[in-house]
Amino acid sequence: MREILIATKNKGKVQEFEQLFAQFDFRVKSLLDIDDAIDVEEDGETFQENAIKKAETIASEFNISTLADDSGLIVDALNGEPGVFSARYAGAKKDDQENLEKVLDELQGVPESERSARFHCSLALATPGEKTIIVDGTCEGVITTTPIGDNGFGYDPIMFIPALGKTMAELSKQEKNEISHRANALKKLKEVLVTII
Ligand code: IMP
Repeated sequence: MREILIATKNKGKVQEFEQLFAQFDFRVKSLLDIDDAIDVEEDGETFQENAIKKAETIASEFNISTLADDSGLIVDALNGEPGVFSARYAGAKKDDQENLEKVLDELQGVPESERSARFHCSLALATPGEKTIIVDGTCEGVITTTPIGDNGFGYDPIMFIPALGKTMAELSKQEKNEISHRANALKKLKEVLVTII
């Protein structure tokens, strides 16, 4: 059976990816299964650059097909910030609450019509000796003026999804998995995999 390594230690992400690869008869491993996992610095200027660097570095280190993701929030009125700095927008502590409060502070006085934003996810699948596959997924929303909802993580409480009339943090795990940027990127990856496997 073929194997694929998911370059994350996040159990939720591992589960999402396991579901996808089960139908292609892949055995899925993650960095949680590897004792001496290397840390790849996310120092690229784009989500794609970071995902490609992570996937290719780990694929060649362990000689195994590797899937890596990089994601974050893009706010139009902030010229695309926090973008690739989403995890550490308010500092190296990587504190979700401080990060979302910084976005709300920066947007003070900005009217609803100008608070458009999207979550972005880039996925890179690197196989030693083969061309890396890259796909992107997005999820559109509007930044609220206060946090609403307790589910999810990161910027979910300030990301209002107009089509559902709720913030991401008010959605169940299942509802989020149907519309999220990661789900949309995974759908595209599936379309590519169907044509090459
Ligand atoms: P990473 O790609 O897992 O490193 O995520 C980068 C950062 O983007 C996270 O720390 C969050 O702040 C933000 N982010 C990524 N995906 C989501 C999401 O689904 N909801 C809320 N915030 C997210």
